[in-house]
Amino acid sequence: MKNRKLVMIPGPTPVVRSIQDQMGRETVAFGDPDFIRDFKELIEDLKDIFKTKGQAFVLAGTGTLAMEMGIANVVKEGDEVLVVSHGFFGDRYVELCERKGLKVDVLEAEWGKIVPVEEIEKKLQEKNYKAITVTHVDTSTGVCAPLKEIGEVVKKFEDTLLVVDGVCATAAEPEYLDDMGIDVLITGSQKAFGVAPGLAIVLAGPKALERRKSLGSIKDYYVDFEKWAPIMEDPSKYFGTPPVNLIWALKESLRIIKEEGVENRYKRHIKVARAMQAALEELGFSLLAEKEYRAVTLSNVLYMDGIEDGEFRKILAEEGAVVAGGLGQYAGKMFRLGHMGNIDIHDLVSTMSAIERTLYRLGIKDVLGKGVGKLTEELLK
Ligand SMILES: *Cc1c(COP(=O)(O)O)cnc(C)c1O
Repeated sequence: MKNRKLVMIPGPTPVVRSIQDQMGRETVAFGDPDFIRDFKELIEDLKDIFKTKGQAFVLAGTGTLAMEMGIANVVKEGDEVLVVSHGFFGDRYVELCERKGLKVDVLEAEWGKIVPVEEIEKKLQEKNYKAITVTHVDTSTGVCAPLKEIGEVVKKFEDTLLVVDGVCATAAEPEYLDDMGIDVLITGSQKAFGVAPGLAIVLAGPKALERRKSLGSIKDYYVDFEKWAPIMEDPSKYFGTPPVNLIWALKESLRIIKEEGVENRYKRHIKVARAMQAALEELGFSLLAEKEYRAVTLSNVLYMDGIEDGEFRKILAEEGAVVAGGLGQYAGKMFRLGHMGNIDIHDLVSTMSAIERTLYRLGIKDVLGKGVGKLTEELLK
């Protein structure tokens, strides 16, 4: 009999039964009064949990569509934009902004490090940037940006809106829009929300909504705030067919988040991440991200000498855990282990044990129990 495969990549993450059940429900008309009520509650909950007096948008699409929506509504062609890049997804924002005819400046960190906040402040003084984009957690490097500090800095620049890519952070790292000076938060369903892929989620603060108004007509159609805002306020209206079952699934995810308590959820993620990271180091791995800026949602794990990426991940999958490979310059040199969302101690211990068995099968024999021991010890603290 084959081992079950735990999906421990940085998204999609494991989808718990109660969320699966929502996706398995019989689909109703999008005008169904019960669905309209559920959709409306979902939008209110999002605004509540992420603290904004602005608007929440939920539509069919992926995180990348949310990235597009996030920038398309707050700047127009020819505007100056600053992109802070901590890796692959920061670079994606560069490409996206260039395609839109924006004038893009980039502050780039060496992979594993952050762009210092002082450098961001200095750069913002140079030009009248209409927006700055920051990836909260860049999945390619496992680096978490110091978002609170960045928010404080951006607040000093009246014209500059802060657009945050939270695809690999939202629901695991604190993100409170109106408190933290975040004007637009873009995210997706399949990472720390623990829902299947397929939803683009965007939260826009009051300043972002005002900016959208001031732009008049924009070139983008599907992602236009002004097309969707009336639907988010009154889901009995139609613009594009809502992904009924995924909306229910996200609603169940928010119910789980509220039940746990959002602050408790953030604390749990810190505990889990630090325990996993300590255990991985115990086994002889090292981590790409600098210690002070390590994400809680995933670990970017560098192989020790003599381990071949393809073989490692193949055996690990046989042992019952699927992880992702490295991106860009770290392809072949690293694996990426997600530990976010609705996962519990069984998932964590099983994953760690599967990693140990994999190393054992690769000839590193003195590992059995070591990672699991460390992980469990840390989790019990
Ligand atoms: C996964 C990810 C994306 C892209 O999301 P898709 O759903 O794959 O389009 C964007 N930004 C970050 C930080 C991500 O981790």
